[in-house]
Order: sequence, then C-alpha cells, then structure tokens
Amino acid sequence: MRITVLGKWSPYPKGNEACSGYLIENSDTRIALDFGNGVFSKLELYGSFWDLNAIICTHLHADHSGDLPIARNAVKSGILYNKIKAKMPVYLPGEPALNYSIIDTYQDGLQFNIIEGLPEENLYRTTQIGSLKLKFFKVEHTMLAYGVEIETQGKRVAYTGDTHYFPDLIDYVMAADLFICEATVLEKNKDYAVGRHLTARQAGEIARRAKVKQFLPSHFFPEYDLDYVKKEIEEGYGSGIIMAEEGMIIEI
Ligand SMILES: [Zn+2]
Ligand SMILES: [Zn+2]
Repeated sequence: MRITVLGKWSPYPKGNEACSGYLIENSDTRIALDFGNGVFSKLELYGSFWDLNAIICTHLHADHSGDLPIARNAVKSGILYNKIKAKMPVYLPGEPALNYSIIDTYQDGLQFNIIEGLPEENLYRTTQIGSLKLKFFKVEHTMLAYGVEIETQGKRVAYTGDTHYFPDLIDYVMAADLFICEATVLEKNKDYAVGRHLTARQAGEIARRAKVKQFLPSHFFPEYDLDYVKKEIEEGYGSGIIMAEEGMIIEI
C-alpha cells in the first residue's frame, strides 16, 4: 500500500496547501481518504481525480469534505468530455442532518454510500473497494465522525479522522503498520480539545501505547509553531517522530 499526504491543515489551509487528505493506492485501487478544502487540486499533483475508485469523508466538517462540491463539478464536466463514465462513489456519514442536506444536493455527480448503512462487523461498518478493505469505527467529535482502518495483503493503515481521547481508540489502532493520527491541540489549549480533538501529547501517548509500527501525526493548526507541536507529541511518544508533510509518500 502506498500513502501520499495531500493535506495536513485544520481548520483552514496555509497558502498553497490543503486541509485533510491522503491518497491511498494499492495495485489498481486508488482512494482519497478525506477530501478537505484544497485536496482536489493537490490530488492532481500526486495522482489523478479520474483514476480514483472512491472518496472517503470521515465526517462532514469542511476541512474533511469541503472539496466534495468540486468533485461533483469535475464529474459533471468529465462525463461530458469522456473522462469518467459514472458518478464518483463517496463514503460518508449521513449526519448531521443540516450538513448532509447541503452535501446531498451534489448527488447529480456523486454516488453516496452512507457509512451507517454499510454491513456491520463487530464494532465496525465495513466495505470492500477494489483490493482495499475498509473498516469504519465511531470516534468522539463534535458531530458524527469515523476513524477507519484500511487493510490489504496483511498490511493495515489506521486513521483517527477527528476525535477526542477515548480509551477504546488505543484498541482500534493497536499495532497498525501506519497510524495517521490527528495531533491538533497544544497543552496550553487542552480545555478546547475536550469533546473535539486530541492534544499533541495525547496523540503521542496513543501511538506509543498502541505500539504502532509507523506513526504519522497530522491535522495541524496553522496558528501553532509546528516545532512546539512536535515537541509535545514527542513528550507522549518519545523522540524521533516524523510529522506529516504534503507530498510525503509512505509505502507499507
Ligand atoms: Zn472535524
Ligand atoms: Zn478536522
């Protein structure tokens, strides 16, 4: 499996960069994992929108789904010019109702698969996209949101999406070959993280306790100095971490 970072910022991107997005590729299967503001444009640098099998949105905040209307525009144009033959499949939550009611209007270019309606397997909602098996698990955020595990050929990527800390999170991501973890809030603002996000230190602690094989902190707040964020992640994890960067490619 090959993972390319398309965007790492939240809740808005720095100049010429993007919010949350990762390109996941395995043999003939390609998915975009989160599709925040700016991700469509970045995808064109590291892959092609037309080659995607599906888009995944872990939740309906704009830093994870903001480029869905652009994907819809592309499909509508692409069908006219024979670049794509059918609507683009999108896997996303069907809540909250107000956010979904806006996104619902893009179904003339996007084919929606509501995660809550996917087959249940223990605590997961699961689906198969090409050679990739996706297992969604509920996380704890300000709206219905999912983390996801992506498996193929005995390798596994675990991704938190947006969540605050809850004990089962460690079990979900245990021993992942690659753990992409939000590391949003510095200790000085830790009250803000409650109910919303992980602190940088918590992200490091979760990765250490889950004994993940590779740890990739991401989802950074543009107002912070990332050297401080890294320092606090390392307080939880230990030294030597590598922070997500646009264009970074990881093979597992
Ligand atoms: Zn969010
Ligand atoms: Zn976010």
